[in-house]
Amino acid sequence: MSGIYIHIPFCTKACFYCDFHFSVNKKHRPEMTQSIVRELVYYGKHKKFDFFKVHPISSIYFGGGTPSILPIEDIAKILETIYENYSVAENPEITLEANPDDLTPDYCQQLNTKGINRLSIGIQSFFEEHLKWMNRSHNALQAETCVNNAVDAGIKNISIDLIYGFPGLSNDQWLANLQIAQNFPINHLSCYCLTVEERTPLKKLIETKRYLPTDEHLAAKHFNMLSNWTAANHWEHYEISNLCRNGFYSKHNTAYWQQEPYLGIGPSAHSYNGLERRWNVKDNNAYIENWQIDKPLFEIELLTPTNKLNEYILTALRTCWGLNLDHANELANINFMETKMDLIKKYSALNLLTLDKNCIKLTNEGRLFADGIAADFFVN
Ligand code: SF4
Repeated sequence: MSGIYIHIPFCTKACFYCDFHFSVNKKHRPEMTQSIVRELVYYGKHKKFDFFKVHPISSIYFGGGTPSILPIEDIAKILETIYENYSVAENPEITLEANPDDLTPDYCQQLNTKGINRLSIGIQSFFEEHLKWMNRSHNALQAETCVNNAVDAGIKNISIDLIYGFPGLSNDQWLANLQIAQNFPINHLSCYCLTVEERTPLKKLIETKRYLPTDEHLAAKHFNMLSNWTAANHWEHYEISNLCRNGFYSKHNTAYWQQEPYLGIGPSAHSYNGLERRWNVKDNNAYIENWQIDKPLFEIELLTPTNKLNEYILTALRTCWGLNLDHANELANINFMETKMDLIKKYSALNLLTLDKNCIKLTNEGRLFADGIAADFFVN
């Protein structure tokens, strides 16, 4: 499996908590689409990513930023370029991240016609006061109507993003958000714990005491509520922040977690080809200027076996499939179980992980400490 990720670096408003790469100045949107097309053609023609010769593209993901800002002609042009320059598998998953305020019935219809078969909708909450607190561009009514607009237009594969763990989200409201989402005909939910990132408006608002600080006990409480709700409502909590029903895993994200290769296009997009990671320049103007002369602008890191193993530990422990000991051994040519037996015993005794059929898996309790446990398992 291989994937293509396209980063669309524009948003209508800056959400206070967000540290992704985006601009609210959309003046150069047409030039950005032209540059994205040029980058796609460049890698398609130059075959810099050799694995695309043997692995057809099985997922295409428009992320951002807010890809639903794009007019349908731009989305169609990008997709056409991919089909013309790469070998695409039959029935690829083609996801577009969308904001509720963009998903009018007409736009949903056009997306469906152009081949978008999965939407990942940034709803975050169905309560007006939360959307205002986050500085989202949509309102509660749009949050409620957008899913039906998409379904009526024929897009059946839908994921909703929700955020928990922030002051102002009561326990009852968190459950209500999950319940409202569950009543829609969706098959995937991404539930993120709010984190306060450096250099975000949220950080500043908290520092200047205009917003309350986040509370890790509240976050843990909401995560436990999510775990209980998941079990009671027949969702599969297959990754710490991701749930699905009826086997509708996100193919694109699952491929990331399984260290499959992917090509990232657009400013700030990351690529991985099994040997190296690269990340494009995080500057819209520099990206556009360089692609006018077909000049890639990126940084690159060659991955050592140890890097690969540590990345695998970090991502695998977050998933329901866990960390496969044979795969860990292969990645860094070590006996992982022998090296880490004391840690496995320690965390098993604390009921934070289990060793199950050659795989280390975190328990629900362990998932609360996933990053710290993963760091303990890292090798030097
Ligand atoms: S819409 Fe998404 S990418 Fe844009 S500012 Fe909000 S969270 Fe960030």
